[in-house]
Amino acid sequence: MGIRENIERVRERMDAACRRAGRRVDEVKLIAVSKTVQAERIREAYEAGLREFGENRVQEAVSKQPALADLDITWHLIGHLQSNKAKLARELFHWIHSVDSVHLARRLDQAVAGRARPLRVLLQVNLGGEESKSGVGESDLAGLAAEVSQLRSLEIGGLMAIPPFCENPQDARPYFSRLRQLAGIFAALNAPRVTELSMGMSHDFEAAIEEGATMIRVGTAIFGAR
Ligand SMILES: *Cc1c(COP(=O)(O)O)cnc(C)c1O
Repeated sequence: MGIRENIERVRERMDAACRRAGRRVDEVKLIAVSKTVQAERIREAYEAGLREFGENRVQEAVSKQPALADLDITWHLIGHLQSNKAKLARELFHWIHSVDSVHLARRLDQAVAGRARPLRVLLQVNLGGEESKSGVGESDLAGLAAEVSQLRSLEIGGLMAIPPFCENPQDARPYFSRLRQLAGIFAALNAPRVTELSMGMSHDFEAAIEEGATMIRVGTAIFGAR
């Protein structure tokens, strides 16, 4: 199937999940994860109507973005970011989903690089406490949120998580609902408008939407197997 048909199919699945959850479909942003996907195919997805794209590596964005510079794309960095690449990441991306330390947040804040507008960031939480995944542990989240909210050029948008892989997407629901609960820290920080929840991928985004996702990150279901 072509990219256009795949996108239609993803939209139908999003619509159905929103209907089940009693949510409006415009409450959920579809981010097309284009890692390993060539620029022409990203352009094809853009022509089919998508505007938000996610990459997981800074270097890959460096090599692909110039060929797409004529398009009005909002770029999301969804993969782990090393603080020595903070400046470059700030130049290339509108959103960073993977802030998981005060050190990284400070480096991003300092890398203003002529961009007047704040950089939007999400705090990545390691919900399963998995060694192999990045993200702040639940017990350190409130401290991180308090520190990041002090940084003038960063705007905290919300939380992001990659839960442990579950064969049955329904089994991921407790993780998604946990992330939604954790977002309660922003009310405590007097930041009630911080409401984004980036959660859900190709095989489990319906469950994520039913648990409150506002951003889903979908690669395979749009571009095919990597
Ligand atoms: C690759 C990736 C995705 C998309 O995964 P699919 O299963 O292809 O939809 C989502 N989030 C992150 C952080 C990723 O690295």
